[in-house]
Amino acid sequence: LDPVSYIRDRIRTVPDWPLAGVQFRDITPLLQDPKTFRVLVDLFVHRYMDQQIDVVAGVDARGFILGSVIAYELNRGFVPVRKKGKLPFTTVAEEYELEYGSATVELHSDAIHAGQRVLLIDDLVATGGTMIAAAKLIRKLGGEVIEAAAIVDLPELGGSQLVQAQGIPLFTVCDFA
Ligand code: IMP
Repeated sequence: LDPVSYIRDRIRTVPDWPLAGVQFRDITPLLQDPKTFRVLVDLFVHRYMDQQIDVVAGVDARGFILGSVIAYELNRGFVPVRKKGKLPFTTVAEEYELEYGSATVELHSDAIHAGQRVLLIDDLVATGGTMIAAAKLIRKLGGEVIEAAAIVDLPELGGSQLVQAQGIPLFTVCDFA
């Protein structure tokens, strides 16, 4: 079993969603099938189980699904990076540019403590804006992003290069051109 092609082969491509011309890479089939879900989670867990990580941060919303299971398996806590206006306690916020307009992500101000080593998880890197904004939130609270990790990279959009240019180590399982 080659876990990477096992996972890659089971990602569904939905044409013209959410907009005409977009090929949406849908990771929900990976979660739905129990064996695939296990292969996927195990791949991340094996990568990080011998690394010094204090806390796992997951990005709203598919990063929650993956990140929380990885955190549980690593016996670490999980903190959610949420879209604006969802977190009830005091927050730090980071705005970033989208193709049209902007978006803001937030983290509870006590989610990360200075000096903590943080693993950051999302499902996919496109332009990299979301991952970079999430990493900036972690850094605002004094955390160190040990690695940002996602299932999919879309290298033609250049996001993975931008993430690494910010000094954020990046791991992705597979890519789609
Ligand atoms: P970025 O900020 O442009 O890198 O976009 C990444 C964010 O948008 C992630 O949180 C993804 O969940 C979401 N996203 C963008 N394109 C796709 C896709 O094709 N499939 C799944 N999620 C996507």
